[in-house]
Amino acid sequence: MAEASYDLVVIGSGPGGYVAAIRAAQLGLKTACVEKYPILGGTCLNVGCIPSKALLDSSEHFALARHGFAAHGIKAQVELDLPTMMARKDKVVKDLTSGVGFLFRKNKVEPVFGTGRIVGPGKVEVAGPEGARTLETKRILIATGSKPAALKGIAYDDRRIVHSTHALTLPEVPKRMLVVGAGAIGLELGSVWMRLGAQVEVLEFMDRIVPGMDKKSGLLLQRSLEKQGMKFHLKTSASGARVEGDQVVVTVTEKEGGATREETCDVLLVAVGRRPYTEGLGAAEVGVKLDERGRVMVDEHYQTNVEGIFAIGDVIQGPMLAHKAEEEGIAAVERMAGLPGHLEYRCIPNVVYTWPELASVGMSEEDAANDGIEVAIGTFPFLANGRAKAMGEREGQVKILADAKTDRILGAHILGPRASDLIAEVATAMELNASAEDLARSVHAHPTLPEAVREAALAVAKRAIHV
Ligand code: FAD
Ligand code: NAD
Repeated sequence: MAEASYDLVVIGSGPGGYVAAIRAAQLGLKTACVEKYPILGGTCLNVGCIPSKALLDSSEHFALARHGFAAHGIKAQVELDLPTMMARKDKVVKDLTSGVGFLFRKNKVEPVFGTGRIVGPGKVEVAGPEGARTLETKRILIATGSKPAALKGIAYDDRRIVHSTHALTLPEVPKRMLVVGAGAIGLELGSVWMRLGAQVEVLEFMDRIVPGMDKKSGLLLQRSLEKQGMKFHLKTSASGARVEGDQVVVTVTEKEGGATREETCDVLLVAVGRRPYTEGLGAAEVGVKLDERGRVMVDEHYQTNVEGIFAIGDVIQGPMLAHKAEEEGIAAVERMAGLPGHLEYRCIPNVVYTWPELASVGMSEEDAANDGIEVAIGTFPFLANGRAKAMGEREGQVKILADAKTDRILGAHILGPRASDLIAEVATAMELNASAEDLARSVHAHPTLPEAVREAALAVAKRAIHV
């Protein structure tokens, strides 16, 4: 049965899809958003950014109470209540996912529950709990996101051999946890369980952790995590795993020499990236081109090769980040509405929410060297920042890269307390094409952590005050 025409049907209600749908409705487009699960919000709200940050915050409180309070003159006896910690996390998720429903009602976006399949340009068939219906629409926006990748030879059993989704709901703290992959998920969820008492060891294929990020900052983060008890095995992977009783026997493989050994653990977390999700979507069947990694190919307006079909977020190329998906969704629908929607890719921040946190935006030193760009670098340690000292935070630094000729800020890499919040100032400065001197001349409240950002900007011109 054909239904009333829409201006836009968005498939997927993650941060890319739901934000695009709201912006489209704000711009006067009659919009529906199709979601295969009965809850809105996608990976990010349900099994990604939000539950992981809820557990990171709770486990950080627990670790502080156990190891950090004494230095502040606070004596506490601490006991873990994991069910309550998990219930708090679930409530945070529920509040935020139902918030998306509220925003849809407010903006008159129609949610349609069921699996969406493109059956032709302008036609989306939705197989839902109440049968199938076909939505007719002027445009389709694919925002179907991504799913955890798997490792060859290792099958998930969702209890002891898990990906991120199940690592967010473990019923008890594992004694020993092996993690494959020292990227954002491995380090964040590894940190959660380490803080709650697990012995965590991370196997990483490359010769350093967070290989996509600034090398020196990654090394500093590795040292911090090692001090907290996390162990790393670099140039190492896992090539097999089997459950024996309540243990997992993992075949650990060294990259060089290919030597293998067996290790046992209570839980094996595989965190080696995510893959674009287009199964059952019908995109390829109607001629939409996918690249060699299964990502939907789009032009600079997020238009696929099929007229009227667009795509954004994790399912297209670029970093798999919620804020990238959101901004692409906004830019795509603004373009549809005739506005000059645009996203400045070089200004997208990337954060790993360990403690200390690692945040970066723009070029690393290695990127600048590869592109033959001469840079001036300013660094400032948190050890010399008054507020960090008052908080008892001694680790990490702010590093700012500026073009050696023009002083234009090209990148920043912050390892330290609340680096996730501190990076926003540099990202905004980069959006405004600011120079390091612009940052250095801006007045920052004292005593605050952002003063470390200003001092690093001063250090670009070799005139930091407090080191
Ligand atoms: P998704 O959020 O994946 O949403 C896609 C939606 O489409 C899903 O709801 C799915 O059910 C639906 N769908 C798929 N196919 C169909 C279909 N055929 N019909 C109907 N619906 C369909 N990013 C950050 O920026 N910061 C973080 O702190 C962060 N933490 C993370 C922690 C974890 C543990 C994980 C796994 C990811 C994290 N991410 C983080 C990444 C972030 O979650 C993703 O980049 C983001 O969710 C991508 O948004 P999206 O809208 O493209 O896709
Ligand atoms: P990732 O790509 O960030 O990290 C995967 C890590 O696994 C890399 O270090 C890689 O070298 C390593 N690896 C790959 N194959 C391996 C193998 N066979 N053996 C050992 N190591 C191997 O992926 P992720 O951590 O799984 O996260 C998935 C996506 O979700 C990422 O794109 C990430 O940006 C996003 N995410 C973001 C956040 C955040 O913004 N804080 C948090 C979680 C997830």
